[in-house]
Amino acid sequence: MSDVEKRDTVIIGAGPGGYVAAIRAAELGQSVTVIEKSDTLGGVCLNVGCVPSKALINAGHRFQDAKDASTFGITTQAPSIDFSKTQAWKDEKVVARMTSGVKMLLKKHKVDVIQGEAVLDSDTKLRVVSTGPKQFMSADDGLTIEFKNLIIATGSRPIEIPGFKFSGRVLDSTGGLNLPAIPKEFVVIGGGYVGTELAGAYANLGSHVTILEGTNSILPNFDKDMVKVVLSQMKKKGIDVITNAMAKKSEQDDKSVTVTYEVDGKASTITADYVMVTVGRRANTDDIGLEMTSVKTGDHGLIEVDSQGRTSVPNIFAIGDIVAGPALAHKAFFEAKTAAGAIAGKNTANDWVGVPAVCFADPELATVGLTQSEAKDKA
Ligand SMILES: Cc1cc2nc3c(=O)[nH]c(=O)nc-3n(C[C@H](O)[C@H](O)[C@H](O)COP(=O)(O)OP(=O)(O)OC[C@H]3O[C@@H](n4cnc5c(N)ncnc54)[C@H](O)[C@@H]3O)c2cc1C
Repeated sequence: MSDVEKRDTVIIGAGPGGYVAAIRAAELGQSVTVIEKSDTLGGVCLNVGCVPSKALINAGHRFQDAKDASTFGITTQAPSIDFSKTQAWKDEKVVARMTSGVKMLLKKHKVDVIQGEAVLDSDTKLRVVSTGPKQFMSADDGLTIEFKNLIIATGSRPIEIPGFKFSGRVLDSTGGLNLPAIPKEFVVIGGGYVGTELAGAYANLGSHVTILEGTNSILPNFDKDMVKVVLSQMKKKGIDVITNAMAKKSEQDDKSVTVTYEVDGKASTITADYVMVTVGRRANTDDIGLEMTSVKTGDHGLIEVDSQGRTSVPNIFAIGDIVAGPALAHKAFFEAKTAAGAIAGKNTANDWVGVPAVCFADPELATVGLTQSEAKDKA
C-alpha cells in the first residue's frame, strides 16, 4: 500500500449505519471503502445489541412455552435449561451467521473492507491504525486515506454511572447478554427498552429480577397506557419495578454484588448475582479526531447534521447513533441510504418524527410518531 491512498466514498464503522450506507453507495455506482475496528462486521446491533438480545428473549419464550405446555394438554417432563448451550446457539447459530452474512453482502457489492481504527487528520484525510486479529484486508499502521466523501458511522457505547464501574459483577448490556449462567437474582438499573427487554428475558429464564428506575416510570418513550400493561405482566412474573430509585453504589465479592439505592432519600440494598446498568449510551465521537476537522458537534457529543446527514463540512456525513434522534438500527439504515443518495446527488431526506420503535417486552410494544402526551404538549 502507498503512504497516501485516494479513495472515493469512505465509511467509518460497519454497524447498521455503515454497512447499509456501503451497500447503497455501491448500488449507486460509488467505489466504497469501509473501515471497521472490530474483528466482526455488523456493529453493536448484530454483535451485542438487537440480535443477541432477541435471541435470549426467544429462548426465554421457548422455556416458558415448554413450562406452560400442560395448559394445551401437552405433557412434557419439567423443562430444564443448559444455559451454556443457549449461549452457544446465540453466538454461533444466530450472531455469527448474521455477521458473516454482512461480510458476504459487502463482498458481493465489491466494497473494500479494511480492519483498523480510523482517526481523522483533516476534512479530507484520515489515518487507519491496525487493530486486533485480521479478518479482512488489514491496515498498515499509519495508512493515510484521502477521501472524496466520508460517512461517519461510529455508533455508541454504554454509559457508566458513579459507583458502578463495569467490572466483575457490574455489567453493561454486553455483559448482560453474555452471562455464563442464569442468575438467581438479577438487578437492572435503568428501565429503558434495553433494560426492560433483558429483565423480561432473564425473568422468563428463571431469574428473580429487580428493575431500579430513576424516574417515575419505565419505558419513557412509550404511551403510559401501553406501559401499564407491561407493568401488570411484570408483576405477574414476579419482576419488581422500583421507580424514583437512585442507584448509589455497588460492592462486590466473588459470589455476589450488593447494590445500594435510595428512594425519597431512604437507602435500601439488594444483593444479587449481577447488576446490569442500562442507563443510556454515549456517541463514539470523542476519539476519532473530529477536533482536526471543521465538523461541529453539539449536545452529548452528537454530530450536527442537516436533513441529508451532511455535517458542517460538505463532503462529510454522519449517521446512526452519533446523530440526534432515537438510537435504533432502522433509523441508522434510513440515514445510511439518505447519505449515500445525497453523495450521489439524489434529493434524499430524513424524517425523524416517523421513526417506529419496538420494545420486545411482554406484551411487545410498537409505536410510531409522537406519543399522545407529546402530541398534546405540542398542540
Ligand atoms: C442490548 C441492545 C439491544 C438493542 N436492540 C435494538 C433493537 O431491537 N432494535 C433496534 O432498532 N435497535 C436496537 N439497539 C440499538 C442498535 O444496536 C443501534 O442503534 C445501532 O447498532 C446503531 O448503529 P450504528 O451503525 O450507528 O452504530 P454501531 O452499531 O455502534 O456500529 C458502529 C461501528 O463502528 C465501529 N467503529 C467505531 N469507531 C471506529 C473507528 N474509529 N474506526 C473504525 N471503526 C469504528 C464500531 O466497532 C462498530 O462496529 C440495541 C442496542 C443494544 C445495546
